[in-house]
Amino acid sequence: MIYLIQCTKCGMQYVGETGQCLHQRMNNHRADVTSKQLEGKPVGRHDKPQHSVEDMKVTIIDYLGLKDDLSRKCRESEWIRKLCAGAIDESHIPVSPPALNHTDYYNRKGWYSVILQGVIDHRFLFHEINIGWPGSVHKVLTNSALFKKAENGSILTEHQRMINGCNIPVFLIGNSAYPLKKWLLKPFADNDRITAQQRNFNYQFSRTRIVVEKAFGRTKGSMANAD
Ligand SMILES: [Zn+2]
Repeated sequence: MIYLIQCTKCGMQYVGETGQCLHQRMNNHRADVTSKQLEGKPVGRHDKPQHSVEDMKVTIIDYLGLKDDLSRKCRESEWIRKLCAGAIDESHIPVSPPALNHTDYYNRKGWYSVILQGVIDHRFLFHEINIGWPGSVHKVLTNSALFKKAENGSILTEHQRMINGCNIPVFLIGNSAYPLKKWLLKPFADNDRITAQQRNFNYQFSRTRIVVEKAFGRTKGSMANAD
């Protein structure tokens, strides 16, 4: 089976798989938390002072029957990808600056632009588009409607699922410049202190984020062709 653990206090999500009964598997997770087993134990690492195992809600999201380990691992990865609603990013679109306040449009790369922010899904479709902030602005995300919606838990609600009576929210992924939120994941800071597992996470993360670069590239290519 594939199961989802959600912390009801901070929204942390963990997707796991097991061929054992769920009760047995949860006992293992509990033991990881109490014995402070951190290496390779994501649930064990969720050891914040006011967040205990008792705050974690467990939902079975998929039954596979008696499938082998590899099938379960594949289905687990599939579910992790399904819960990711898209990748967020922004891109500068060149413009001729207005006569008034033209310096606002001068971006750090040395040309005039407006900023396009969007969430791109696995089909390269744009959602939650925000365009028009002058090129010199740094905090498009926190000024956008998307941010307010996400903080209120109403982001991309069409992607949320109700499974076994449990509402399963989705999350977005962004590059290292974005803030870490319960609805927005970012890579681990790439310094010498990250573990091999965190490095592998970063690798998988950047592979998933490629959609955003391709989508912006295609959009800009079609704009250039329209000239
Ligand atoms: Zn928590």
